[in-house]
Amino acid sequence: MKDAFFWTSTTEARPCPLCGRREHTVVSERMQHSLDLVTVICNECSFVFTNPLPARETYERFYRDAYADYYGHITTPPPATTVTQEPADLRAKFERIERVRPLKGSRVLELGPGQGLFLWWAQHRGCSVLGIEPSPKFCSVLAQAGLPHLQCSLDGVDAVTVGQFDIIAMFHVLEHFFDPNEALSQCRSLLAPRGLLAVEVPNILKPFGSLDRYFLRYVHPSSFSPTTLEAVLAKHGFRSVHTDEGGNDWRSPQNLFVIAENQNDVSDPSLSGPGEVAQVLHAFQDYRRRWRRGLVLKWQARRLALLLKRSAMKAGRPVKRVIFGGRGRSTA
Ligand SMILES: [Zn+2]
Repeated sequence: MKDAFFWTSTTEARPCPLCGRREHTVVSERMQHSLDLVTVICNECSFVFTNPLPARETYERFYRDAYADYYGHITTPPPATTVTQEPADLRAKFERIERVRPLKGSRVLELGPGQGLFLWWAQHRGCSVLGIEPSPKFCSVLAQAGLPHLQCSLDGVDAVTVGQFDIIAMFHVLEHFFDPNEALSQCRSLLAPRGLLAVEVPNILKPFGSLDRYFLRYVHPSSFSPTTLEAVLAKHGFRSVHTDEGGNDWRSPQNLFVIAENQNDVSDPSLSGPGEVAQVLHAFQDYRRRWRRGLVLKWQARRLALLLKRSAMKAGRPVKRVIFGGRGRSTA
């Protein structure tokens, strides 16, 4: 495995993928797994993105050579129960799509289907499905499940060979693309007129875990808020018809789920309204404060448990182990 320095060697700065301007403010210089790249926010449109990025070849090579080392835990086959009983989170996604358009009889494409649960259940609901999956490990899982798929990346397919789709789904995929504009433009060419794009991404305004050491990631060159996701979709001719931001519990992941319709007009992203830079920077500051406070409380709880244990040992009393924030358990 190559070290972090190899993967994070960057090339020149890039303009904002949403509005094309170059003025930005640095948000963070840290990332998950110490694969540290600089995250910035565009001063014009408030899009949050990695800048500069490594060379495209290096970034794409990371997925081939190193992704499994960092994220290998997600390549296990799905448990048998999830193919006999529709998981609740999937049901919620289907229900949200069905509120806009019936699923039955639709042609559905999923980008990055992973273990194929969405495709499996979409097929069960009467859709004809196809997955585009670059990972050979996931493709073998899809093959075992008998799910139609192509082992390639999005730029390896075109409407002439695979046709057009009524629905394109991508869950936790859009934030991974080296160039989100290229990906959305490709999606548009694969989607029938008035077809639907269902997108789920992490919401940069509702981080989870440490913002700098967990939430911001090498494999997420783009970070979306409800406003910037809607704007980047509009830039490629998609009109948002449903947005769901999850709840306000910052202790569990709250994702941004958008369904957008493929329309013929392409709006100017610079007309998407005033930037929200100050609001986003303030939200980050506030989040970091809350996160640090949570860590301090955890540290204080552990220290207190240690002191109690020492004093009990001195007094010859049985020692009880207390786990704060989890299940208390006596070890006698
Ligand atoms: Zn911008």
